[in-house]
Amino acid sequence: MLSDPTCAVCGQRAWDDLETKVYEKSDGPRLEPYLRSRFEILFGTWFAGQSRATIVVQNCRNCGFVAFAPRPEEDDIRAKYEMSLTLPRSRAVRPPDNLSDERRSRRLAAELSSVLRPGSAVLDVGGGDGRLMSPLVTAGHRAFVVDFKTEPVAGVTRLGATVDELAPESRFDVMVLSHVLEHVAEPLTLLQQLHNHLDDAGHLLVEVPMELYRRVPPRREPLTHINYFHTESLRAVLMRAGLLPLQCRFGWHYTEKQIVVRALCKKGEPTIYDNSRGPQLTRALVAGDPRALISLLEAERRRTVRAVARYGARRGRGAIRAVLGRIGRAG
Ligand SMILES: [Zn+2]
Repeated sequence: MLSDPTCAVCGQRAWDDLETKVYEKSDGPRLEPYLRSRFEILFGTWFAGQSRATIVVQNCRNCGFVAFAPRPEEDDIRAKYEMSLTLPRSRAVRPPDNLSDERRSRRLAAELSSVLRPGSAVLDVGGGDGRLMSPLVTAGHRAFVVDFKTEPVAGVTRLGATVDELAPESRFDVMVLSHVLEHVAEPLTLLQQLHNHLDDAGHLLVEVPMELYRRVPPRREPLTHINYFHTESLRAVLMRAGLLPLQCRFGWHYTEKQIVVRALCKKGEPTIYDNSRGPQLTRALVAGDPRALISLLEAERRRTVRAVARYGARRGRGAIRAVLGRIGRAG
């Protein structure tokens, strides 16, 4: 664990503290099974031998990327996954034909439709058994996956556990990095590796959860997600890796329960992005500034209306309604 980490996006060490969070080992046994198992791993690896885990969540003053100290390194992430494999599964594995994966894979195929060519080679990085690739296989594309899961679904070829195992000369027309970047110790390094394996005319689709609105993450435990992006910080790390966003914006996850940041990139040269608005956007989002929410959601107004209708009874209903009113007047 790094006690005084540099920013994983911009490389600087200029943090503003947002919040100190404390997790007590003694709380573990009282928690529901999934969270209990997360606490077991937290105090079995990153905070082994300690009765309390204290983290300081920080906003990078240069780019607005949010992370916490101490920060896990690659070995710590590996130790976490290895220990999780030794514990009984606290969540059932979803069968490959479940409805939400089907919707998610259909939406992914639609998002990629503008960049796919007949017979494109598509790699899903960290895509589990590759189930999101199924509609692409049906459409005649060549689908590949790298993941620790060893048994891919029919039609998808597994090329290893991580991108380190790809043949050096292998190139892909399209790469998908969906809900992976928030977990890794070195997001820039991973993106640089993907850049190396992307065809010169290829495209990368990245999606991460947006967890900064009206709260300082992590919500329940610090073990699962260690990187918290918004549009500005995601754009910055992509461009630094030479992946140039054709678009990078907030949107709804296919479940419409979660806001995400989604970027579609083409291959280019590494560039420093002037994201001086990043730190301010972080502060506005965390504070729940309605103007930040407006800019966040108006790109997908139709989905927002549907999500509010479906989940309107939950916390935040009033704020979202007020914002919808303002978007309505604006547009
Ligand atoms: Zn930074």
